[in-house]
Amino acid sequence: MNPVTKSSYVDGAFVSTVDASDLLDNRNPSNPDDLIERFARADQALTEQAIAAARRAQPGWARSNPQQRADALDFIGSEILARRDELAVLLAREEGKIVREALGEVERAGRSFKFYAQEALRAEGEKYPSVRQDVGIDVFTQPLGVIGIIAPWNFPIAIPAWKIAPALCFGNCVVFKPAELVPSSAWALAEIISRAGLPAGVFNLLIGPGRSVGDTLIRSPHVDGISFTGSEQTGRQIARLAAEGMKKVQLEMGGKNPLIVLDDADLEQAVEVALNGSFYSTGQRCTASSRVIVTEGIHDAFVARLAERTRALQVGDAQQPSTDIGPVVDARQLEQNLAYVASGVEQGARLVCGGERIDNPAGAFLFTPALFSEVTPDMRIYREEIFGPVLSVLKVRDYDEAFAAAEDTAFGLSAGIVTTSLRSAEHFKRNSSAGMVMVNLPTAGVDYHVPFGGNGASSLGSREQGTHARQFFTRVKTTYQLA
Ligand code: NAD
Repeated sequence: MNPVTKSSYVDGAFVSTVDASDLLDNRNPSNPDDLIERFARADQALTEQAIAAARRAQPGWARSNPQQRADALDFIGSEILARRDELAVLLAREEGKIVREALGEVERAGRSFKFYAQEALRAEGEKYPSVRQDVGIDVFTQPLGVIGIIAPWNFPIAIPAWKIAPALCFGNCVVFKPAELVPSSAWALAEIISRAGLPAGVFNLLIGPGRSVGDTLIRSPHVDGISFTGSEQTGRQIARLAAEGMKKVQLEMGGKNPLIVLDDADLEQAVEVALNGSFYSTGQRCTASSRVIVTEGIHDAFVARLAERTRALQVGDAQQPSTDIGPVVDARQLEQNLAYVASGVEQGARLVCGGERIDNPAGAFLFTPALFSEVTPDMRIYREEIFGPVLSVLKVRDYDEAFAAAEDTAFGLSAGIVTTSLRSAEHFKRNSSAGMVMVNLPTAGVDYHVPFGGNGASSLGSREQGTHARQFFTRVKTTYQLA
C-alpha cells in the first residue's frame, strides 16, 4: 500500500499541490523495506514563498502579546509531552535510535517549548543614567527577524525544538528545513505547531534538500539569521555565504570529544561513562566521546572491562525492547564507519572488538560498536569525527599528558574526566577548551535549560538553549531620551 504523500507547510497551510516527480521516501534503517512516509520535496520557488510569508508575518509577530506567545509555546510543549510515546516510536522508526532514547529526546523537545513559554513572559531591559545631564537611557532587545533553521538528522525533534521555541518566543518568524533523512518527526512537530494559534507565516516547514532549499535560505536577503546544526563542512559554507550577506549565524557542528580516565577513577564508573558516551545512540551524537585518554595504571583493566561490556551490547532493531544499540542511520554512514575501522587497522591500532557489519534478513544497517586500543594521536580514527560507535583509547602517563592530549584537537564541543581527585576535576573544568565539561558523567547528555555549545571548529556564534538563546534571536537597541 502506498503511504500518503505529505508536504511542506507554508503561510499557514500544508501545500496541497505536490510535484509527484520529486518525492522523498522516508525509510526505516532497522528495516529499509519499511517505507514510513513519502514527502513532496520543496523547491526554490516554494522556499521563496515561505520566506516571503515569514517576512509579511514578522512585524505583527514582533508586536504580539507575550501571553499569546507563551500560550502557543505551552500548547506545543503540552501536546508533544502528551503524545511522547507515539512520537518516540516514530522517531525510532525513522532515525534508528532505540525507543528508550527516543522517548528522552521527545520529552526534551516538549520541555524546551515549556521553558520558552515561561521565558516569553520574563521581563528584560535595562535603564541607565546618561553621562549627560537630564538624559535617560533604555536598553532593550528586539526580535532578529526571519530565521532560517537548518537541522541535522541525529536529533530529529529535540534540535528543531530547541531552535524553533526560542525563535518564536523572542518574536521571530521561522522557516524550518529539517534533514532529508528525518522528515516524519519534523512534519509531526509542524502539524502540532500548525494548531497552536500562530498567525499565518509565523512558522513554515520546508522538506527538501540542502543544496536548493537550504542554500536559498542562506542566500536570501529577506532572512535575517540562520541557526544551523550539522557537519563542519556545511557549517563553513554557511559561514562564508552568511558573511557575504551580512547575516547573523549560529552554527553547531562536529566534535572529537575526549574523555579522560585517571588512575584514581572508579573502574566500573569509568567504563559505564565511556560506554554510554561513546556507543549509545549508535555513537551518532555530536557530543559522543570518540577518544578515551587513559592513564597507564588503570589502562589495561579499563580496556579489558570496557571490551567485556561492549561485547555484551545488543545491536538490533530500534523498536525491540532488548536492543541497546540501534542501526546506523543509513548505508552511507555504515560505509563510513567501516572505512574508518579499516583505516584504524591499517594505521596500526588494535581492534579489540566490534567494527563489523551484522548481516540480517531485514537488511538493517547494523554495526557492532568498535573499540580500538594502541591508538596514536596521528591516526585518522583519533583525529577525525566518525559519527559512529567507534572508540579510540590512547594510553598516557599522567594527568598532565592526558590534559595535553585532550586539548590536541581543532574541535571543542564537550570534554569529560572520570576521577576521584577534586584537584584534577577542578583543573579540567577551569582549563579545558571545550564549551561543555563533564566530571564523572558521559560527554553526551545535557540539560535543556542551560547553554549548549562549543568552541573552535565545533561552534560559531552565541550559545543555544536556556536564557542565553536570547543573544542570537534578538538585537540590542539603545535609546537616549532628554527629560
Ligand atoms: P549536514 O551538514 O550534512 O546536514 C545538516 C543540515 O544542513 C541538513 O538539513 C542538510 O540538508 C543541510 N545542508 C546540507 N548541505 C547544505 C547546503 N549546502 N546549504 C544549506 N544547507 C545544507 O549534517 P548531518 O549529516 O545532517 O548531521 C551530522 C553532523 O551534525 C555531524 O557532523 C554532527 O557532529 C553534527 N551535529 C552537531 C551538533 C551540535 O550541536 N554541535 C548536534 C548534532 C549534530
